[in-house]
Amino acid sequence: MDDCLFCAIVAGTIPAEVVHETERTVAFRDIAPAAPVHVLVVPRTHVADASTVGPEHAEDLAAMVVAAREIAETEGIAAEERGYRLVFNVGRDSANSVPHLHLHVIGGRPMTWPPG
Ligand code: AMP
Repeated sequence: MDDCLFCAIVAGTIPAEVVHETERTVAFRDIAPAAPVHVLVVPRTHVADASTVGPEHAEDLAAMVVAAREIAETEGIAAEERGYRLVFNVGRDSANSVPHLHLHVIGGRPMTWPPG
């Protein structure tokens, strides 16, 4: 999609520190990390946000969660080691800022709940 930052990262026209790739997903480090590990997993095809996800996106969604698990293992924060948080921000109150679906994979420090 034209004028989409994460589509440009997927296409390689804007640089990012890519840490994981599959047929359906690309994952790269967040430019402003909220924790020692902060990776964004995005589908290669443009989806606006989680509120627009439907059954047709099932394979992309599963691929994103599997990618998150593999990234967590590589980064040393697997479920059985330290654990991690997965976040989809949707809409203004969540502070969603990039309109291309992305799964935040956050870890490497203890986190509180609820988030601030
Ligand atoms: P959200 O608030 O859920 O829309 O998250 C968007 C995330 O994208 C934020 O955590 C930003 O720090 C991150 N971000 C913005 N631009 C870039 C970029 N060029 N490369 C990597 N991460 C970015």
